[in-house]
Amino acid sequence: MISEKVQRIGASPTLKISAKAKAMRAEGVDVIDLSVGEPDFPTPENVKDAGIKAIRDNFTKYTESDGILALRKAIAKRLKEDFGVEYAPKQIIVSAGAKSSLFHLVQALVDEGEEVIVPSPYWVTYPECVALAKGKAVIVPTREEDGFLLTPEALKASISPATKAVILNNPSNPTGGAYTKEKLLALAEVIKGEDVYVIADEIYASLVYDSFKFTSFAALGEDVKKKTVIINGVSKSYSMTGWRIGFAAGPAEVIDGMSKIQSHTTSNACSIAQKAALEAYDGPQYEVPKMVAEFQRRRNYCLMRLAAVQGMSCFKPQGAFYLFPNVRSFYDKEAGGAKIRNSYGMAYYLLKEARVAIVPGDAFGNDDYIRLSYATSMANLEKSMDRIVEALGRLKTAKKVKRVALANAVTRVKKAVPVEIVADARMRDALVAEMEGHLGYEGRYEWNARIGGAVVQLRTNVAHLNDFWVENFPPAPGEADVRPHGVVYAVDGIAGREPRGFYHEGTQTGVLVNTGLYASLHGLALGLAMDISVRSGGGASGAVRGMSADADGGGLILVGPPGTRKTELFFELLADRRFKLHSNEIAFVEIAGGRASADAVERKLYMPTTAVELDARLAGLFDRSKCENVVVHKEDCQDPECQRADDCRLDRGSPYCYKAAKEAHALLDPAWLGGPAAAAKRTTLRTLVLRTAAAGPPSQSGSRRAWDSLPAL
Ligand code: PMP
Repeated sequence: MISEKVQRIGASPTLKISAKAKAMRAEGVDVIDLSVGEPDFPTPENVKDAGIKAIRDNFTKYTESDGILALRKAIAKRLKEDFGVEYAPKQIIVSAGAKSSLFHLVQALVDEGEEVIVPSPYWVTYPECVALAKGKAVIVPTREEDGFLLTPEALKASISPATKAVILNNPSNPTGGAYTKEKLLALAEVIKGEDVYVIADEIYASLVYDSFKFTSFAALGEDVKKKTVIINGVSKSYSMTGWRIGFAAGPAEVIDGMSKIQSHTTSNACSIAQKAALEAYDGPQYEVPKMVAEFQRRRNYCLMRLAAVQGMSCFKPQGAFYLFPNVRSFYDKEAGGAKIRNSYGMAYYLLKEARVAIVPGDAFGNDDYIRLSYATSMANLEKSMDRIVEALGRLKTAKKVKRVALANAVTRVKKAVPVEIVADARMRDALVAEMEGHLGYEGRYEWNARIGGAVVQLRTNVAHLNDFWVENFPPAPGEADVRPHGVVYAVDGIAGREPRGFYHEGTQTGVLVNTGLYASLHGLALGLAMDISVRSGGGASGAVRGMSADADGGGLILVGPPGTRKTELFFELLADRRFKLHSNEIAFVEIAGGRASADAVERKLYMPTTAVELDARLAGLFDRSKCENVVVHKEDCQDPECQRADDCRLDRGSPYCYKAAKEAHALLDPAWLGGPAAAAKRTTLRTLVLRTAAAGPPSQSGSRRAWDSLPAL
């Protein structure tokens, strides 16, 4: 089992989106990638030559851990000439990229529980970097009206006795906002009175536009400089992202601390790249303004195009190479039945419909925005702007959801289809070919979900299935980077085909023909994931079908055949405030190091709506939820008792009945049942409750007894 601290962090979402775009491109789809954070220009010739020369000169051995002296001197010279700040070479450490400097710096500064102020929107790495040092990132939102800049008032208000540092990214990734000297001085006034460090990530310092004058935080005076550590590097300003050279400059004791860490992690940055960086800093600088002029031209072009999009507003950045438009007004809109709900939905829509990869603003801490990088050719920008404008223009205001037609509700009652096992590989291939034949590019939805360690891909033409799927399985770290372990097709609308389900074990392929019911997809995909986890045989792990809950990190799983009133017992447990929801149907259990832990694989609870009979609170929650197969006409009612009554809910004017169809299900957010604190994603199992038919209905205090009388696992 990987460590707690690593479980707490996610893989870089920016890298994930570009991996997805690459995967689409590998399949022949013409995707334009506006998600990456690197200049598209080649590294300047003189710099490349210096790298080649270093190899020829056999400069290919370890160097001083902090970086070669000549490079640290060149950095000191550039800092003095460009920003007016003086550092001795021993106050500078060269690392394998600015990211590495930042990581070592945060490790050197922050102890467990100490706070680091991170203005939001933030670069994705900051909070994770703080989490890895076991510190606490204190996210301080900024406002677009303030240029996405931290105000002195907000800074002052967020400093506590536990504050160790503030991260100031100037100019900012993702917003492009940049601080004028006056704005920085106002922040410096607050810092002067406090015992905190400023981590000044100035990696975009040379990429500023419209004659904006960049000021380094360290240049604000000796008292401020003593508390400031500059992070910078050659990646962005000299188009050298792949060379991996960054640096930190700051007080000698901090650099010494970083140096100790670096000597045990990466040792030194690449010797060849150091020579190339030396040329970048020491050699002619004329490539930099050329790049800046080109970025400014592209920024202006994109701003002009986006300004013409109704409903879009875009902040005019002063630096870096990103645009951060507000797309909030599109969140209630839809195209082809697929509604956009958040920045992930927008990223997914633009990837699929405009074939443009962008990064959801949520990754940077603000879901109302998306980030586009204009570090790509003008031709690509023209094409991508055309596509974005066209795709956004196609979004229509979603029809007002009438209460009778809940979002995505399939109101014609259908049964889940049984699934046949297919043993013959040729039949599997024929089925896949048939399904692919019905899944053109248009109207095709694809989504990877990580279920208990297996990545299961859904390929469908049913918008609402994809919708359910996306809601229940939000993107997991790294899932875009891996080939799916299994694929499920759900293709509806094939003329002349009966609803059928198939599963081929050898290739872990599931096929649902003419079946748009989520229950079928859910059962097949989860079964497939279980199969994969059993086959991969990685230790003692597998899925348990049953309800599970958590109490103070001690978990409980309830299993038993249908009819043993597990749901009832589950709700009894939840009424006890000690318990947290874990999963109402399936949990992946792993046994390692003498401990059994269970992970809930779904974000939402997928439950029969007949559960309203057990817990009346659910009716109100189901109203807000997405339901499927909910009965809206009395003639579809499957409850014989109700049918006889002449005063059912529907007769009384209720737009739907949750109890009338056995196949009615709802996707329910567990957070609604008592707030986020009432749900847990992982638990260490202590108790297994096996219910048998003979156990009968639980008594009044059944749950407590069941819990207390069972031996620990
Ligand atoms: N800081 C910021 C704000 C960045 O955007 C990036 C790169 N995306 C870095 C640091 C890291 O730069 P490097 O490639 O040198 O590690």
